[in-house]
Amino acid sequence: MLPVFLDLHTMFVADISVTAVLGLMLMFAWLQSRSSEALGWWGTAHLCQCVGLVLLVGADMMYSVATIKFAATLMLASYGLMWLAVRRFDGRHLHPLTASAGAMAWAFFAAAEISKSPLHYFMLYSLINGSYCLMIAFEFWRGRAEPLVSRWPAIVLLVVSGAGYFSWIALVGLMPSAYAGPLLPGPWFATVILVTVLGKVALAFIVLAMAKERLELHQRVEAMTDALTGLPNRRGFYRQAMRRLRERRPAARPAAVLLFDLDHFKLINDRFGHGVGDRVLMVFADILANSLKATDIIGRVGGEEFAVLLDDADPETGCAVAERVRVAFEADGAVIAGGRVAPTASVGVAAVSPAAYSLQEMLSFADSALYQAKASGRNCVRVSEPADGGAEQATMVVEAPPLKPVLVSSILPSRSRAS
Ligand code: GH3
Ligand code: MG
Ligand code: MG
Repeated sequence: MLPVFLDLHTMFVADISVTAVLGLMLMFAWLQSRSSEALGWWGTAHLCQCVGLVLLVGADMMYSVATIKFAATLMLASYGLMWLAVRRFDGRHLHPLTASAGAMAWAFFAAAEISKSPLHYFMLYSLINGSYCLMIAFEFWRGRAEPLVSRWPAIVLLVVSGAGYFSWIALVGLMPSAYAGPLLPGPWFATVILVTVLGKVALAFIVLAMAKERLELHQRVEAMTDALTGLPNRRGFYRQAMRRLRERRPAARPAAVLLFDLDHFKLINDRFGHGVGDRVLMVFADILANSLKATDIIGRVGGEEFAVLLDDADPETGCAVAERVRVAFEADGAVIAGGRVAPTASVGVAAVSPAAYSLQEMLSFADSALYQAKASGRNCVRVSEPADGGAEQATMVVEAPPLKPVLVSSILPSRSRAS
């Protein structure tokens, strides 16, 4: 049987070595990427645990009860540090009192000598340790909205560890003879240490993977976000819009694409300066974000060009939304940075069935309508639709009284933008 071949002290030496290596590895990872502060906390926890283990083995050899109690305090403190690490990882308050409560409770129990039975100490230690495992698992679970796959194995491992600690309590309670004493439990405990070491290694690697995963996720999001407005950039818009249309295609309901282009923006830059130009772009982005539903897809697809994909929207709905944004921009953007900038936007709308047209085609229809809006004097909405039943494009021109555009048909002559 496995426990027969495992020597308790050898397993402790293995545990100490592995814990030290993991601690140093985590500290090294933290030094390499200082933004992953949680790795530093997790590494410190391992080093603290390592000192505790060294003292524990030494104390067992010297039969020093006081040292063994202090060693256990350090080891419980290390679980508090891990709990802090996870809270740090998810940007929560640190709560040092909760983190140290377990170690303090143990230290009080030990110092006041509330019980003389090593069994009771062992059970209290397991109770506190198991509780911290479940608390750490809970913290990981609370941050589940962040799509990090490594969260889930960490949660499973910690719940299993917590359950393990609680089952030891039950086991030792039911079979006190298994606890050989005087300070450490019987030979079966060597197997427990082996399992603990394996779990510790797995968890440390999962934590490292999670920090790396988060870094990659941030880089991916950054690559698809416009730094000035915080909206998805061209790449982000295309990716989100393509995904949405793929999901929507079987339903074959119409979807609308709105293309906004700020009018005479070069002139605004020239007259008021680039800083005010940037401010105008931010004001427009805010108006867009506040005028649309959270499920609508928005993006800054060019310097002063913005695109919107509306799910399940016919031409009338598309025009109404475009007109609402246009009017809001005209009103809210009149005074920017203390100056009368009075920017306006022209809008091209295309509303078709995503089952029949690609995103590229929809954007191209919207672009044609935008051309018409520019040619018609700017600060207005135009809508373009494919001719009935065919790929040939016809244009519905909107002469737009506020909020209720009227549609008139005509054929577009050219693809170039009016200047
Ligand atoms: P139109 O009404 O025909 O659209 O004229 P326009 O001046 O808006 O169009 P044009 O394409 O001639 O000029 C776009 C300007 O947008 C030129 C460029 O300097 C400016 N621009 C692009 N990106 C930014 C930015 O991030 N910040 C600022 N301030 N200006 C930008
Ligand atoms: Mg433009
Ligand atoms: Mg422009």
